[in-house]
Amino acid sequence: MTYDTLFHLAFYFAAILVSLTSIVFTKFQKRTDLSQNKTFLLMNYIVLANAVTCFLAEICDALMSTSGVFYNLLLVCQFLYFMVHITLAPALFWYVMTVAGSFFGRSLGFKLLCLLPYMVSELLVITNPLTKYVYYYTDDMVFVRNWGEIILYIVSIAYMAVAFTNLMLSWNALRRRSRWALVYFLCVTLFGVVVQFLYIGIKSELFCEALALVGVMLSIENEDDRLDFESGFYNRNALKMDVAHLLAKKRVMSCVCLKITNMDMVSRITGLSNTEEIIHEVADFIRTVVPRYCVYRATPGTLVIILRHDRYSKLSSDPQRVAEKLDERFKSDWTVHGSPLKLSPVIMTAEIPSHIHNLRDLLYMIDSPVPKDIDDTILAGEDLDFLIRREAVEAAVSKGLLEHNFEVYYQPTHCTDALKIHGAEALIRLHDKELGMLYPDEFIPIAEQTGNIDDIDEFVLKEVCAFIKSGEAKRLGMDCVNVNLSVIQCMANDFVKRIMDIVDSYGIPKSFINFEITESVAASDNDLLSDVITRLKQNGFQFSMDDYGTGYSNMHSLFALDFDIVKIDKSILWDADKSERGQIILENCVHMIKQMKRRILVEGVETREHVDKLTALGVDYLQGYFFSKPITQGELLKYQAVKGV
Ligand code: C2E
Ligand code: CA
Ligand code: CA
Repeated sequence: MTYDTLFHLAFYFAAILVSLTSIVFTKFQKRTDLSQNKTFLLMNYIVLANAVTCFLAEICDALMSTSGVFYNLLLVCQFLYFMVHITLAPALFWYVMTVAGSFFGRSLGFKLLCLLPYMVSELLVITNPLTKYVYYYTDDMVFVRNWGEIILYIVSIAYMAVAFTNLMLSWNALRRRSRWALVYFLCVTLFGVVVQFLYIGIKSELFCEALALVGVMLSIENEDDRLDFESGFYNRNALKMDVAHLLAKKRVMSCVCLKITNMDMVSRITGLSNTEEIIHEVADFIRTVVPRYCVYRATPGTLVIILRHDRYSKLSSDPQRVAEKLDERFKSDWTVHGSPLKLSPVIMTAEIPSHIHNLRDLLYMIDSPVPKDIDDTILAGEDLDFLIRREAVEAAVSKGLLEHNFEVYYQPTHCTDALKIHGAEALIRLHDKELGMLYPDEFIPIAEQTGNIDDIDEFVLKEVCAFIKSGEAKRLGMDCVNVNLSVIQCMANDFVKRIMDIVDSYGIPKSFINFEITESVAASDNDLLSDVITRLKQNGFQFSMDDYGTGYSNMHSLFALDFDIVKIDKSILWDADKSERGQIILENCVHMIKQMKRRILVEGVETREHVDKLTALGVDYLQGYFFSKPITQGELLKYQAVKGV
């Protein structure tokens, strides 16, 4: 073999190895289910087949003088090469169109029309042994190109040109990485073709094509940063990019958003590793309903399915059907380590962009908690109006801070001893021109999410300090004013300092302020909270555990955290009215807390019977509509300090 032959063989061999690498890795990482993946693999197979035929042809060429068999083999290889090679440009065109999303909504007729030039080329090649339009060998075995080959070139160049133009037109809708990978691909391929054209001895074309495909594999086809490893679905980032891309392409789609509302609690109860097991189980089921590539895990407990509409064919799956199938499955148990577990789903379906106009709205739907008073598990159309309400409340909160629409109301608390006033709880209200009076149960969770909670709680604390400083609280016979603290606030780094700075600036006794922390917060991070409470208590503040009996009734936090008062939730009191079991729970709660030497306040006292029952049990303080609803500061000043018996 001559040096030239070895040189050519080395190029073909390199192309074989490189394209094999792309194929093996793509298969190994199971990236084969999207039509984009399939086209990518096809391109690799084409390059591989071409490299193999060229390799064999080169050997046959070298050995041709030894036997006529090699001549015939060479003809076969040449034929196969042409037949396969002309598929590469249309495959590349197809790939770019798919990655850019330009085929969406196109009819089958359009797609076939795109392939027509390719079919003509293929016909030319297949019939070449008879017609010799493309190439032929002279009697003395010299290879001659015919006019047909020019047509093949023109067709290939046309496919490449359309692919490139389409790439430029879709530039803004493409992911940054995809853009440059495709440009790289086209440039390296072109480089290989030009070098081989100029120096026929350098067989760079196939090698450069194989190399360019590796580049594509590493960037466009590599989805590592788009995947959520626990579920195997795409992640939130991928959702944002894909929806933005589809919207930019003016695509119509449906979204099915599955929220597992008790995910947090399940994680806490079963532990994190078991949560992964549950997610696997749910993911396995969802894959039986829709293909994995339309599912995104937007938050740990939220899966979003994007179903793309097609202008010609109907929707791949009906969102309502998908929602029903999911709902049906969630009615039965899931299993963790063999034990059954119930997951509570809320499934929202909406059309994009007719219901959900943009990416922001979609993320809003994903991140907004579903109000507790919604009982249905499948929500669509008007059911989703709570999102509109939430957006309005969000706006009212921001506006309220600027326009001073917040007002602190006070609800008196009384001692069981002669029903004297003991203090009051500060409860915030928001007066909005459009929405009317808004209550904290609705806007506090929203303010916590939007980050306005700090400003609100600071406002309440300042109002309370000013009220205490005015001396009116003392005149009414109060010992303290209760201020609610939100979860988010307590966990902030500079929390203690901020509180101290505010209260110090009013120069009031710190023991007059009693902070309320809800039981569920207390259960979440004992160490941090214990530190906050200890430091504030050292400075004189008092603390109450709020809503005792609603959450996990964590004995440990009751013990470990140094609360002055435990506030038993109104539901415990009201349940005691309804059943003997409820009565036993109330009595036991009171006994236990008393044994722990904590003072007790019971909320939701609405009747004389409540007062008598709780006084008999030895409760220290009472709060509820029996005494007063939350009232304005003006009304509080006129409040009768001792409730007439
Ligand atoms: P909470 O701390 O448990 O406050 C008691 C809630 O029960 C108040 O609702 C009060 O109006 C209501 N309530 C009191 N007695 C009775 C009764 O006898 N019967 C009935 N049916 N209800 C009664 P409100 O004012 O709507 O407050 C709701 C929640 O919002 C509060 O629950 C508290 O967690 C939160 N909140 C209120 N103000 C603030 C605040 O300034 N900052 C923060 N972070 N949260 C606040
Ligand atoms: Ca409270
Ligand atoms: Ca409470």
